[in-house]
Amino acid sequence: MRTNFLLSVFFLSNLTTSLFAQKTYLLRPDRVFDGQEVHENWTVLIKNEKIAAVGPASLLTADSQNAEIIDLKGCTLLPGFIEGHSHLFLHPYNETPWDDQVLKESRSYRTARATLHAKKTLMAGFTTVRDLGTEGAEYDDFGLKQAINQGVIPGPRMIIATKALIATGSYGPKGFSADITLPQGAEEADGQDLIKAVRSQIGKGADVIKIYADYRWGLNGETRPTFSVEEIKLIVETAKSSGRPVVAHASSAEGMKRAISGGVETIEHGDGGTPEIFKMMHEHGVALCPTLAAGDATSQYRGWKKGIDQEPEKIKNKRITFKNALDAGVTICAGGDVGVFSHGDNARELEMMAEYGMKPIDVLRSVTSVNAKIFHQDNLGQIKPGFLADLVVVEGKPEVNIKAIRNVKLVMKNGIIFKD
Ligand SMILES: [Zn+2]
Repeated sequence: MRTNFLLSVFFLSNLTTSLFAQKTYLLRPDRVFDGQEVHENWTVLIKNEKIAAVGPASLLTADSQNAEIIDLKGCTLLPGFIEGHSHLFLHPYNETPWDDQVLKESRSYRTARATLHAKKTLMAGFTTVRDLGTEGAEYDDFGLKQAINQGVIPGPRMIIATKALIATGSYGPKGFSADITLPQGAEEADGQDLIKAVRSQIGKGADVIKIYADYRWGLNGETRPTFSVEEIKLIVETAKSSGRPVVAHASSAEGMKRAISGGVETIEHGDGGTPEIFKMMHEHGVALCPTLAAGDATSQYRGWKKGIDQEPEKIKNKRITFKNALDAGVTICAGGDVGVFSHGDNARELEMMAEYGMKPIDVLRSVTSVNAKIFHQDNLGQIKPGFLADLVVVEGKPEVNIKAIRNVKLVMKNGIIFKD
């Protein structure tokens, strides 16, 4: 037993060294997508954690003599993908319903799963995630982020929301005896108490404050607004003092309207958006994170046989609203609500964005430079000197066929290769 233990420690420490050694690399793919455009025959020089130089192969030779050369024939190099909406502490609802994950799974169990989810995300080429709430797992996203940043486990950079905020009585788990108080999937707070709730979450590590501007708490279970505009303004003002943005889950037109008026930066889902609401989003510079893949997944969990049955109303509507958002010029944040479906399958959202009418090159912009800008990440999302060396190499031409993003050949984060 003891020998085995020592052997595994030895193996692990060796693995860690090779995973986390930084060096100088010269990457030679067929083409580079720099976050905006595709350039043929470009080469990328990486020094330690940063991109040192980018450009036509001939320009780089003098500067790159001691670099390890990696030839990537037939491949496209892109900025590491940025997932706009994940829940690393959730796993697909067809495996375990959301209620059961919140009420029956221990936090240690959920954390153990989350470490695996983080690894799968990174290996799929997603080097950053905006993780929008632990859904009942308290502040455990903070520890996960810390473990990743310290190199204890492989995973993406995390922009975290911790618990997220809900209006009292609006969220879940629901449908149990009124005599008992159950833990909720996010933190309940209202009125002036919201100030303290926002500040507590910031103190515990939140990079972003996430609110539920509406939820299925109508008389007949329909989606209705939760917080008042005044409450949302109070949340935004409190968060803004510390330099943090507020983002809102909102599916109804009224919920979206209140969130926009209240000053949030992104709207998650937006299923009930009308042309007027999208116009308003465009005017206020509020981005839409459409989470197309989540709706696609939950519809199938409820019995829809995709490709066989007719598309449910929900899906038909989603195609229309997404088109309306594009037509209104709303900035699209690429984010799938991954966790509702499998971690590592993040590409599903990008494929659906293309399927629902976005040009593949715009999808690639969205998941790299556009997401970086929306999330205030000034040194991510572009292949440019001085930017952090977060990149992904895929076989094929994703700007022509978006499905190529699944052919991941190499992932680099902070100048370290995680997949080779
Ligand atoms: Zn979500």
